[in-house]
Amino acid sequence: MTASKLDPITRLIHHPYEPPAGFEAPQPGIFKASTVIFSSVAAMRSRDWKNKAGYTYGLHGTPTTFLLEERLCALEGGAHCLLAPSGLAAIATVSLGLLKAGDEVLLPDNAYGPNKALAEGELAGWGITHRLFDPMHPQDLADKISARTRLVWLEAPGSVTMEFPDLCAQVRMCRERGVTTALDNTWGAGLAFNPFDLDAGLGVDISVQALTKYPSGGGDVLMGSVITRDEALHLKLKLSHMRLGTGVGANDAETVLRSLPSIALRYRAQDQAARELARWCESQPQFVQVLHPALPRSPGHAHWQRLCGAQASDPAAGLAAGLFSVILDPAYSSGQVDAFCDALELFKLGYSWGGPISLVVPYEVASMRPHWPAHLARGTLVRFSIGLEAVADLRQDLERAWQTALRE
Ligand SMILES: *Cc1c(COP(=O)(O)O)cnc(C)c1O
Repeated sequence: MTASKLDPITRLIHHPYEPPAGFEAPQPGIFKASTVIFSSVAAMRSRDWKNKAGYTYGLHGTPTTFLLEERLCALEGGAHCLLAPSGLAAIATVSLGLLKAGDEVLLPDNAYGPNKALAEGELAGWGITHRLFDPMHPQDLADKISARTRLVWLEAPGSVTMEFPDLCAQVRMCRERGVTTALDNTWGAGLAFNPFDLDAGLGVDISVQALTKYPSGGGDVLMGSVITRDEALHLKLKLSHMRLGTGVGANDAETVLRSLPSIALRYRAQDQAARELARWCESQPQFVQVLHPALPRSPGHAHWQRLCGAQASDPAAGLAAGLFSVILDPAYSSGQVDAFCDALELFKLGYSWGGPISLVVPYEVASMRPHWPAHLARGTLVRFSIGLEAVADLRQDLERAWQTALRE
């Protein structure tokens, strides 16, 4: 049909103009689609949705999601990537993709809480059992691996309590027993260490990240990634991912693509600020323990040092995320601890981390763990996530809020 004979309303939709090719700009173009258009029925029929040389449907990938997947593979040293609408959805993709009724999954007892809740609340209903292991004693993990163990989750350091495990020993024990390992690498973000690095004694099978944290860096996007080196493992997960229908929106992918170029700078800046504040907290008597893997007295410090390239001679060397927790002397009431958190002005009360604003959350360790770990002092735990504010202002905020809490 000749375009000029069409009704203007139709021409708005089927317009012949195509912008010239060859446009280049610092940021990539963003492609949005549910529907992808084929050139012929034959092309439609022969199209394999798994093959990334072409496009099938928005859920199976667009140039925008393929680009983000490749860049995330570069960041983490992987070969294949799946994107999910949150970090938790990425975790669920792995557990649902690999576990069937009768299987068992093992999780560290300091794992990200919602990962444990997924096992307790959803997997259990489908006949998939789970057990918790002590991340600070690799032998406990080895002892709990049975003929039914199909997947072991790992995390370094643990969520909230920040213990850094001997990740290399854990991975080795799983590999020797032929069990698949999945690392929640949100803290490392692909920067602190390379999860697939066999030379460093690592080599996990799967690395999951909450892109919500450092890759986004804005506190305004939810997204997750599942990265592997092994193609067969990737395809198995990709099939579950497709059947579950958990794709990501183009606007969110764009936001992460926009933030990725500065991730290393932000991570380093938040790391240095967090270490400075954590060291200052160590000098304050109300904090009976400061949990940050770069502090020599923090549980698992030596494992962090070895894995993340730290040197005893240079306290600024090695990388760590901008997160740390403190345990308050039990002499202070939980009301005083709440008053301290409420009195903070620059630190806001809120979950998540990796954004520009510093955040604080009080936690009750007793409700999160089966037993009070021997390496943790008794008391209320408060977790800080350090944003991009000036460190001196943050320290002053902590000091002033504590004085306010003491008056309560
Ligand atoms: C935040 C977080 C997740 C989940 O990310 P969401 O995008 O919030 O679902 C998973 N693991 C860890 C360690 C996290 O901190």
